[in-house]
Amino acid sequence: MKNPALQVLSEVHSEKKPWYKDGLKFSCTQCGKCCTGRPGYTWVSLDEIEAIAQFLQISPNEVVSKYLRKIEGKWALLENSSTFDCVFLKDKKCSIYEVRPHQCRTFPWWLQNLQSEEDWQKAKSFCEGINEEAPLVSFQEISENLHSE
Ligand code: SF4
Repeated sequence: MKNPALQVLSEVHSEKKPWYKDGLKFSCTQCGKCCTGRPGYTWVSLDEIEAIAQFLQISPNEVVSKYLRKIEGKWALLENSSTFDCVFLKDKKCSIYEVRPHQCRTFPWWLQNLQSEEDWQKAKSFCEGINEEAPLVSFQEISENLHSE
């Protein structure tokens, strides 16, 4: 199989387990670093727009006009054009934490971080929640939260 992302997904759903079969150590410290630092797209579904609107007590249209941009037909959160801070990052904390999108909720269990141990080490280099003192997250839990775009 050529596509490494498909390889990881296929291993998760088969008897053959991927390299992190014994789990990985992680606990989010809410440092906010994954909400800033480099450009990217945080995708937001229609249900998530609705949830953010309810949380902020504004209409879904206001959420769209104030906080979102449309990229190739999909909605993504705005980010600061110089710092790349997520539009909802306030004082280094997520201001919509309870209703944050699935993509944020599932970090660092993204295929791009799990394709190899080397990719995991790259994620570790900026995510302080990935460290030897953190609790072990089981293979099953990782598989349930695995995020692919
Ligand atoms: S960088 Fe890691 S520890 Fe910091 S908020 Fe993001 S997931 Fe949590």
